[in-house]
Formats: sequence, structure tokens, C-alpha cells
Amino acid sequence: MVGSKVLNLALDQLKLASERLNLDKNIYEILKEPKRAILVSVTIKRDDNNVGVFQGVRVQHWDVKGPFKGGIRFHPNVTLDEVTALSMLMTWKCAIANLPYGGAKGGICCNSKEMSNKELERLTRRYTSLIFDYLGPHRDIPAPDLYTNEQTMAWIMDTYSQLRGYSVPESVTGKPIAIGGSEGRKCATANSVAICTREAAKKVRLKLKNAKIAIQGFGNVGYNIASVMHKMGCKIVAVSDSSGGVFCVDGINPEQLFLHKSKTGSVLNFKKCVNITNDDLLTSTCDILIPAAMENQIIEKNADKIKSKIVTEGANGPTTPKADQILYEKGIYLIPDILANSGGVTVSYFEWVQNLTRTHWSLNEVSTRLVNQVIKAFHEVEKLSKKERSDLRTSALMLGVGKVADAINTRGLWP
Ligand code: NAD
Repeated sequence: MVGSKVLNLALDQLKLASERLNLDKNIYEILKEPKRAILVSVTIKRDDNNVGVFQGVRVQHWDVKGPFKGGIRFHPNVTLDEVTALSMLMTWKCAIANLPYGGAKGGICCNSKEMSNKELERLTRRYTSLIFDYLGPHRDIPAPDLYTNEQTMAWIMDTYSQLRGYSVPESVTGKPIAIGGSEGRKCATANSVAICTREAAKKVRLKLKNAKIAIQGFGNVGYNIASVMHKMGCKIVAVSDSSGGVFCVDGINPEQLFLHKSKTGSVLNFKKCVNITNDDLLTSTCDILIPAAMENQIIEKNADKIKSKIVTEGANGPTTPKADQILYEKGIYLIPDILANSGGVTVSYFEWVQNLTRTHWSLNEVSTRLVNQVIKAFHEVEKLSKKERSDLRTSALMLGVGKVADAINTRGLWP
């Protein structure tokens, strides 16, 4: 497959890991292509009675270890290539986290900020019905991502269940608790980011108490990271969203900032803070930088100006390979997305298991299991990076790709 920049980056990562693993070239050829890509035209009635037509996509990369799993995003940048690249990352992420899943990703190219709740509901339900044949608790299980949330998942679960004729809570994860969601799912991604950052801080001898943190993005992942790390004693000095950012050397209270954003629509003009741009945020003076918004934010142009000791990738694909190299040469400890943000899919797995077994675990049980899984994955990746004398991204990729390749070899190719 030849694709755009974002897809080529994912393919380059696969190539690098395959070469370092000395992987059979047939396995590499298999993993380069997604198993299935579904393109749909999502047609809905707009509130003004006109018709809206949006391109929807679901890409299922490889399911050799179990059903497909991955988020659904609503964003104007959604393309087949972007979603294919992200589905590939999901395959490696699930393998690193030792989850019995294959990678998938989906999305609709739309500006959800300009759509009413009713329009978003019609869009979600129509999209679900169009890909219905390829979904299901043992086929493909969606979850939230950029500009989708637990309400979106409730609509998908309801549409899937209506079309099946009975309730199937295990058909999606990231649902509200009232319909089978898991305790601890909302802040699961943030928790794995925080756990990995804590482990990395020990490696670089950074004290977390009063450590200065800058976070790009203040949505599900970014807000919860701010909240969790504030409770761990860190000082949140900078936060941004799509409108820009705010900086305060004395620290920002994330709960008050959340209320401010709910009232005003953005983080800008928060008390005692100065407004900054998203570029300023990335290069601000801090100990830990956490991109938690979009792809391609830390790039060749700004990587050299990054001042933190640790970069933890809450978002998927926020750092380009050239920037990666610069950060590595500067001695910055970077925890890659496929390890750092794996808490989301890990608690999604817990939710799926609870739904399949008709049980409900306590928050304590979910949190204990999550901490154990993330610490195990972190140290597996870290150990391999020492052995291979590589950065953490390369060792994480090697671990993920290696596990998937083993599974393909073991199952064999049919017919
Ligand atoms: P979200 O829609 O809840 O929040 C996105 C945030 O990013 C918003 O605050 C938005 O204002 C901000 N943003 C958008 N464009 C921006 C820009 N150009 N500069 C700065 N900020 C910008 O989405 P989310 O669920 O928090 O996802 C964020 C990232 O984390 C994505 O890369 C997603 O793939 C990844 N991720 C999410 C989950 C999950 O469980 N939700 C799990 C793993 C990874």
C-alpha cells in the first residue's frame, strides 16, 4: 500500500521493527496491509431538512490474536490513510499490553463542533448501521477517540442491539456505567500515561512532587491527565486546547480550569494565567511534556526547542520520526504512544470481559489490574530497549510486531 505521509510513517515503523527483528519477509508483507477497509457514505437529514453526506471509514488491520478493537473519531482530518495508520498502531498496542485483540480504527470526516446533538446521534446511528455486518463482540468492538465520547458509544451500542434484536453491551466499550460501562474507563488512558511517567521519572531521577507539567489537549485524555497528575503532587504549569493555551508558573488547578472551559468554551483567559499558543506550550519550561491532542505536533522545527526531561505521548502519533531522533539525541526520555496511552484499551478489555461474564468490578479491582498490566508492559519495553540499545519507541514496536508475527507463524496461513 502506498499512502500519505501519516501512513508512510506507520509503514516505516513496521519496516524498522521488522528489520531489527530479522522478521520473515512474508510476515512483513502480510502486516503491511490491513485485512479489511470499509468506506461508507454516511447520509443524514440535517436539522434544516437538507441532507448531509459524510465520508465514514473503518479499517481492520489484523485480528490474529482476537477480535478487532479500536476507537472511532469524528474530525475534519479523517482520511482512509490516517485511519489505516492508526489501526496498525492499535495492533501493536494491543500486543504490547498483552490483550487478545487485533487493531482497528474508524472515523467520520466531519466537524462535530458545528453539528447539533441530534445530528450527531443520526450520524452515529447511520454509520453504525452501514458497518454493522463487520461489528460485533467477537468481530470488532469500537471505543471512543477524538471528538467522540461515552454518549457516542451508547448510540452505537443501542443501534447495534436494535439491529440484532437483543441487548449486546459487549459490542462497544467506553459506554456509560448505566448500560454496562466499566468503573475507571474515563480516566484509564490518563492513568496509564501517569503510571508510565512515574516509572520514567524514577529512571531519570526526577521527583514528581512539584514537577512542572505541560499538557497539550484538554479533552478526555488531557483533562484527566491534568487531574490525575495534579493529585500526584505535580504542578500543571501549561494546558492548551484547539483555541490556544494558558501558562502559570505557580500551577493551574485542573478542576477549576475544567469549569472555566465548560463556561467559556476554551481554556483561554483563565485567572492568573497568561495566554500562549500551542507552539509556546510545546516549548515551554517544564519537566514533563504530555502531548494529548493530535498527530504531528512535535516536529523537526520545534523538537530542538523542547525543554522537558520526559515526553509522554498521551495522543496517538504526536511526534514525527525526525523529531524523535532530535529528542533522542538531546537525551529526552520519550515514552511512546503505543505504551503510554494503552490504559484506554486495557480498561476497554476489562469492560468487555465484565460484559461477557455479566459481572461488574469495583474501581479498586479495575485500578489494581490496570497498574499491574501497565507496569509489566513498561518494564518489558524498557528491558528490551536496554538489550537492543534502542529508544523506547523502537523497542515497543519490536515487542508488539514480534508478538503479532509469532501468532501469525503459529496459526499458519489458510488455505
Ligand atoms: P477529545 O476529543 O476528548 O479531546 C481532544 C482535545 O484536543 C480537545 O481539548 C481539543 O480542543 C484539543 N485539540 C484539538 N486540536 C488541537 C490542536 N491543534 N492543538 C491543541 N489541542 C487541540 O479526544 P481524546 O479522547 O482526549 O483524544 C486525544 C488523543 O488521545 C488522540 O490522539 C486520541 O487518538 C488519543 N487517545 C485517546 C484515547 C481515549 O481513550 N479517548 C485512548 C488512547 C489514545
